Amino acid sequence: MLDPLVYLDNNATTRLADEALEAMLPFLRDQFGNAGSAHVLGRISEGAVVVAREQVAALLGCAPAELIFTSGGTEGINHAFRGVFEAFPAKRHFVTTAVEHSAVLAMGDWLRRNGAEVTVLGVDGQGRLDLAELEASLRPDTALVSVMAANNETGVLFPLEEVASLVKARGILFHVDGTQALGKVPVDLARLGADLFNFSGHKFHAPKGTGGLFLRRGLRLKPFMIGGGQERGRRGGTENVPGLVGLGAAADLARTHLPGTGAVQALRDRLETFLLSRIPGTLVNGAGAPRVPNTTMASFEGVEGEAVLMRLNEASICVSTGSACTTGQKEASHVLRAMAVPASCVLGSVRFSLSRYTTEADVAKVEACLPAILEDLRTQGAVARRR
Ligand code: PLP
Repeated sequence: MLDPLVYLDNNATTRLADEALEAMLPFLRDQFGNAGSAHVLGRISEGAVVVAREQVAALLGCAPAELIFTSGGTEGINHAFRGVFEAFPAKRHFVTTAVEHSAVLAMGDWLRRNGAEVTVLGVDGQGRLDLAELEASLRPDTALVSVMAANNETGVLFPLEEVASLVKARGILFHVDGTQALGKVPVDLARLGADLFNFSGHKFHAPKGTGGLFLRRGLRLKPFMIGGGQERGRRGGTENVPGLVGLGAAADLARTHLPGTGAVQALRDRLETFLLSRIPGTLVNGAGAPRVPNTTMASFEGVEGEAVLMRLNEASICVSTGSACTTGQKEASHVLRAMAVPASCVLGSVRFSLSRYTTEADVAKVEACLPAILEDLRTQGAVARRR
């Protein structure tokens, strides 16, 4: 019999919730109407998109009209940056952090190529922002401050409310990349004070290719995609009705399960305690900062994270060595470099990211396999060094 798969790579993507799949099936079969069509099939699809928008808005704590559906996190980030850049030509300064996802960092490069100035804020050894440094970076010509809610590699949470009050007091727009936070920690956009907030469905058990961008009421940006008048003229293109129905159902589930994230955290903490107590030379990155409940980014001194990943993979355990987008490049994670993690640890980093589907048996399997894998890799390394 095949070993059952242990999936601990939920920050890369999550399994589709069964309930979301069930909700989607009719829209993949008989209810195939275009949400823009006037006939009965069109009306059914249009109604389903209205419901999905309400479900997602309830998870975000915003009005349904403030939500544009997108294909995921990257599109929302592109829309936010390009939209603000075009809408405020007199303001050519942007602020972000060194530990953002590559989608944000790439938008920073795009802004520079187009004549803007971008201030990139550093973090301390625990991945925390220095709010005084952030405040000092703000200028009269600052168009946008963009800060992630939760880091995809370490799970470290940024203090969004404090950032919002500094930024909004100066009349500057505030964008949050909420991709790794939504569904893991409560989000209340009515209270937060962010003007733009993007997220991605596949990080919380919705189908891939779904997501959204919150645009605070009154903020007018040019449409990201020009086409038909979909999304009230803000994003052209026929709606992905089955995907949006799945997104709505997953948002409902996420809201129901939010009070239960303590169970995920208990498993994560158990794993972390095991790693720190049973595997010498282990560091948990960002452990001194507030974090999402599902993520442990461990560094194992003297081994390569990639080698650990491959050996765990042979044992049917799926983990990651950092953000999936940079896997395959044997390069130290930009997040750990920004945190000044010691060089002896930085390449030995392995991310374990859990979900509400993670079981005690999953964690027990890692506990059973990992010490021997690390011992073996360290012995091999020592032998190779002696040669
Ligand atoms: N932002 C963060 C923090 C992420 O973790 C990711 C994906 O890993 C993205 C943005 C991009 O999201 P998507 O894959 O939906 O384009």
